[in-house]
Amino acid sequence: MWDIWQETRLNDVSRRQRENVFRTKDVDAQVLELNRQVQKMALVNQALFELLKEKVGISDEELRRKVREIDLRDGVQDGDLKAKPLKCPKCGSAVTAGALSCMGCGATVAPKYPFEI
Ligand SMILES: [Zn+2]
Repeated sequence: MWDIWQETRLNDVSRRQRENVFRTKDVDAQVLELNRQVQKMALVNQALFELLKEKVGISDEELRRKVREIDLRDGVQDGDLKAKPLKCPKCGSAVTAGALSCMGCGATVAPKYPFEI
């Protein structure tokens, strides 16, 4: 009886271990995909800035100043872009950043800046 219980437990542990290996591989694949997307976005950003520099004459210092200004919109210079909670234009309730409508009255809420997340 003890042997059957032990074997069942060992099989359970073995099954969970195989599931965890699958999950780890899935997480690794997701991290690789996110890294690929970030690298692609960095490449496109670099290309866009170089085009602006060549065609419009925007300087590196102007770009740095704008990055700093945008970074400070949430009150903290940390290299992170966090949206502040919005205020509903209809009822004045706080609306979670990223929400498309007010939970209080259902009014459509647009972020202050088009690329806020
Ligand atoms: Zn509202």
